[in-house]
Amino acid sequence: MISRARFAKLTFTFATLGGAALLAQTTPEREVEASPTSFPFEARLVTALELRQQPSRDAAPVSEHHRSLAAATNVKVLAASGTIGTSGAFCKVEANGRTGWIRCDDTNLMLTKFCDSIDSCKSYCEKTCTKHSNDMKSTCTRVMTEGPGMLPPGSPALKTIPRSMKHVSVSGAQHATQLVLDGLAKLDDVIDKDPSWRGYKVLVKDCYRSIVEEVETECGLVLWGHHVRDKLKNNPPTTDAEKHQAHLAEIWVSPPKAGLAWPGADFHTSGNACDVVVIDHEQKWATSCAADNNGYGPPHTSKAIDVHAASKMLDDAMSKAGAKRLDYEMWHYEWGMPADIGCRCQGSECDKHWPPQCSSASCGAH
Ligand SMILES: [Zn+2]
Repeated sequence: MISRARFAKLTFTFATLGGAALLAQTTPEREVEASPTSFPFEARLVTALELRQQPSRDAAPVSEHHRSLAAATNVKVLAASGTIGTSGAFCKVEANGRTGWIRCDDTNLMLTKFCDSIDSCKSYCEKTCTKHSNDMKSTCTRVMTEGPGMLPPGSPALKTIPRSMKHVSVSGAQHATQLVLDGLAKLDDVIDKDPSWRGYKVLVKDCYRSIVEEVETECGLVLWGHHVRDKLKNNPPTTDAEKHQAHLAEIWVSPPKAGLAWPGADFHTSGNACDVVVIDHEQKWATSCAADNNGYGPPHTSKAIDVHAASKMLDDAMSKAGAKRLDYEMWHYEWGMPADIGCRCQGSECDKHWPPQCSSASCGAH
């Protein structure tokens, strides 16, 4: 999720209209104070989990007929029996009108959600972040940084992706879980053995991102959107440029329309996802986020290979390396995710989703 390319396009459009500075695409690392889990909070299950009467694996189910909560169920987490993500921890949750306990001994069982609508995210972002006056970012000092689906920067679970692979290049210093490192090593091996890859490589652009970094991008967009909305409320748009800005504001207040996610944990914040592209021997991109590159971003090398063919080649190799893809983004791959969370595809089945729209608004489960 989170398509930086599409975001760049929207930012560029804004810059063209309003003269605002272009958003820097790389965020400098900064020290972030850890904010412990504060109950209650909302989360979305990544996998089906049994709902029990007590915080124990032996406890009876809350309902004999509905023993489990399905993957992608939204839950309200009320309390935890221990530290989330540590052995033996259970979380007390409310979901579908029932209250009970689910396992939360692994941080990858659910994703923390901070808000998921225009109104709730306006309120969340205003409470948590301060809008920048000259770019579309925000500074957020009140983000909950400990909880399901997020690893703190510097977590021992995050490893540096080695730059020693033969066919897999890495953009800058990238970090991810061991699962991802093993997957990329396998990818390197798969490409090495496949002659159709001759002349091409994979570039790993972006893997782990901290929750603060994600929220600052998402809330930056949301707060700009509301700022523009408010401005236009007092002075209704008359020129075409102003009308276009009004149109963009409606996209910015709703991050999924802009190719971002609603503020919260995602598989980048858990260290299990990477955005990758196919590159040719001149380092030109052969794939990107959306099918036609939306007319922006680095030019792809359509002379030697078209984006569709390169994307299929990548899907095939990634599938052999154990990764699944977001069905609406051709560059976002994840490892270790269950099949039932929705909006994912693997290998040749990804071709059913061609051309990817690069916006989670096209995906029902988001
Ligand atoms: Zn991604």
